[in-house]
Amino acid sequence: MTKTKRFYLSTALPYVNAQPHIGFALEAIQADVVARYHRFLGEDVFFLTGTDENSLKNVKAAEKTGVSVKELVDRNAAEFYKLKQALNLSFDDFIRTSEKRHRLGVEKLWTACQKDIYKKKYKGLYCVGCEEFYKESELDNGLCPEHKIKPEVVEEENFFFRLSKYQERLKEIIEKDKIEIIPPERKREILGVIKQGLEDICISRSVKRAHGWGIRTPGDNSQIVWVWFDALANYITALGYADKEPRFQKFWQENENKLHIIGKGISRFHCLYWPAILLSAGLSLPKTIFIHGYITVGKEKMSKSLGNVVSPFDLVEKYGTDPVRYFFLREIPPSEDGDFSIERFESRYNTDLANGLGNLTSRVIALSKKLKINPSLKKEFGDKEVRIEVERAYQNSFKALEHFSFNKSLEEIWSLINFSDRYIERERPWKTKNKQVIGNLLFILSEIAMMLKVFLPEASKRILKQIETGESKPLFPRI
Ligand SMILES: [Zn+2]
Repeated sequence: MTKTKRFYLSTALPYVNAQPHIGFALEAIQADVVARYHRFLGEDVFFLTGTDENSLKNVKAAEKTGVSVKELVDRNAAEFYKLKQALNLSFDDFIRTSEKRHRLGVEKLWTACQKDIYKKKYKGLYCVGCEEFYKESELDNGLCPEHKIKPEVVEEENFFFRLSKYQERLKEIIEKDKIEIIPPERKREILGVIKQGLEDICISRSVKRAHGWGIRTPGDNSQIVWVWFDALANYITALGYADKEPRFQKFWQENENKLHIIGKGISRFHCLYWPAILLSAGLSLPKTIFIHGYITVGKEKMSKSLGNVVSPFDLVEKYGTDPVRYFFLREIPPSEDGDFSIERFESRYNTDLANGLGNLTSRVIALSKKLKINPSLKKEFGDKEVRIEVERAYQNSFKALEHFSFNKSLEEIWSLINFSDRYIERERPWKTKNKQVIGNLLFILSEIAMMLKVFLPEASKRILKQIETGESKPLFPRI
């Protein structure tokens, strides 16, 4: 018997200084589709998400709202957890970096990297938004390129990690795709960063600067572990790295297929710092890092000050879970920036879901009911012409998914919907009453539902149920 293939994947951990917005929803939905796809293939999947709670951002947000940091992170982490139901996410674990299992893992990882950690006095420019130091040359007119704010001047004695030592190894690992960075433009960017030379990174801050919040550095109570060293560790602490749990061995150390899905703003942490830390600690490396773009709203960057932050909960409440999943997968290019607008959303909804998929479903169910076709006979149908179409759609759709081309993958399924519409027009079964034709349509519809399982799990179930019962109800009422 062959061993079941294992597959591990994670989202990045969002900061919980605010409520979830659609930027993280995009990432969570993409990851969920990948997880469901690998389960569909029969693999043993572990899908991880959670919340990053030990950042200065959270401390500052709590100060602003006048609540304790603990209160703020508890409240917002609960909101992030609610995405599970709202977006129908199938993650296997949800780690909060304020948990004990995480702290113990971070302490262990720090200790495992001890030979590459040293203390030094340092002066630098720190952006709290990024939770990162910047060099003068990296700033945009003196401002953080990501947040367009002036970084703070920090002068402290901190711990440093010898990133420079791993420069050549990282270069080789990335050039040779031992860690594959997708898309290739991002890989080139990272290689460009390495080419400029990697400097050691500051991995702690004073307890005072951290306002006492976070994980103390092992062996030195005056310092708190830098939030990125802390947060990156979640990918293994959740698996039980601290206690050598079997699932850490199974899904990390003894598993080739490990994927991180992240946004483009944090590629350096994941493609350089994280592998270097793992190398230092003598641990296994991730295999793939898939990097998505950002979502703009009405072509503007989402921001509180512009008042254009879109809540995934509001969208789900108004349109339902599957339409939200569909829009982000179909409309936002997987690895580039994409734009959200209610007009685009409703247009996709009406054209692709209400008309395309919904209409086909109700037509086929109505026809089969009228001609009293026993839907359970559908497997005996499927003429050669129809089977070829279905086979082609499956192959192309899966191939696109392997490359994280969610939009392309859905296009392939919709090409099958278009084929069915043309087939109905050509065969005119409402006139001919040809049972074979209707059987063929039931066959295609059930295959479409199977393919949609990873994208639109609820709609998939409902279509299969309608085929089974012959009861037709609009899948997606027009808006
Ligand atoms: Zn910044």
